[in-house]
Amino acid sequence: MPEAASPISPPARVTVIGLGNMGRPMAACIARGGYAVTGFDLSQDARARFEADGGRTAPDMAQAVADAAVVITLLPNGKIVRAAVEQMRPHLRPDAVIVDMSSSDPLGTRKLGEELAAAGFAFLDAPVSGGVKKAAEGTLAIMVGGDAAAIDRVAPVLQTMGKSIFRTGPLGSGHAVKALNNYVSAAGLVAAIEALHVGKAFGIDPNVIVDVLNASTGRNNSTENKLKQFVISESYASGFALDLMAKDIRTADDLAAAIGVPAAAALAAHADRAVFAPVPPDAAAGAEVWALVDAERERMRREASFGARWRARLSLRSFRERMRRIAAGTDRHR
Ligand code: NAD
Repeated sequence: MPEAASPISPPARVTVIGLGNMGRPMAACIARGGYAVTGFDLSQDARARFEADGGRTAPDMAQAVADAAVVITLLPNGKIVRAAVEQMRPHLRPDAVIVDMSSSDPLGTRKLGEELAAAGFAFLDAPVSGGVKKAAEGTLAIMVGGDAAAIDRVAPVLQTMGKSIFRTGPLGSGHAVKALNNYVSAAGLVAAIEALHVGKAFGIDPNVIVDVLNASTGRNNSTENKLKQFVISESYASGFALDLMAKDIRTADDLAAAIGVPAAAALAAHADRAVFAPVPPDAAAGAEVWALVDAERERMRREASFGARWRARLSLRSFRERMRRIAAGTDRHR
């Protein structure tokens, strides 16, 4: 096997850029796998939390990536990943593999990958699913796109964080599948919360509603792992922010539109889109998704008659029209 294709084994140096809800536990998994892990985050607090857990941090990007065989990014979105990669580029080892494990825009990922390939750097997209709990356990689902030889090199590192590792195809395909998964996941969340509100309004104990869903065909990830734990309990502490989920849905929608698939219209018309469309990309950063979605559905329930809500959900255009009327103060259901 040529040197370039050798798997990167412990105790090689791995750097994790972004020590937030996901980056911190994922970096800990890599360290448990025997790698020499360095973490970096713009936030002093995030670096301090990582150090308090026994992690080693670098004071700046240049020192963080120098000597790293693998550089992993776990950042809020693809634009921030691009900026971070441009910043680290002059300081990278020539044979370093950069792996973006954030949920980034697949088209932006392809473009960034082409630029990096022209400069001789290997770049992969390997977003994850499973949330903070599975990140801590090292049991995430990882969907990795890009050059097969580069994937072979980083596979042992990915295995420290994930239980299921899917090779999805060329660069960007992991990010595409991730966005589509989160679109489906958001649909399940909104449907479940909607059912909870209607059931509660009918006088049924919300815990009983969730028990029935989980023993029936309405079961999904949100009914099993989110409703009782984070919504009914009102702890709202799942570790996933609304702006990140809104970004994922926009990414799926933009992808469908960019490649001219008619599904774009279906995605846009869906209730999820109606819930998330009004959320500007940077709004409510850090707010818990479950709290805000719950509040949003409650607000819609209070504000609109049942019929008006269904009409509002029939198409994005009618939803936007209704929002316009609410803003203008002419919506009779306000
Ligand atoms: P987070 O906001 O908790 O963490 C992001 C971290 O990046 C923050 O600590 C921030 O200070 C840091 N950061 C921002 N810009 C930076 C820069 N230029 N250089 C260095 N650090 C910088 O977000 P998260 O929940 O950990 O999510 C990270 C990524 O993983 C996102 O793309 C998200 O969509 C995805 N994701 C999150 C979850 C989840 O459950 N939280 C699940 C799957 C995927």
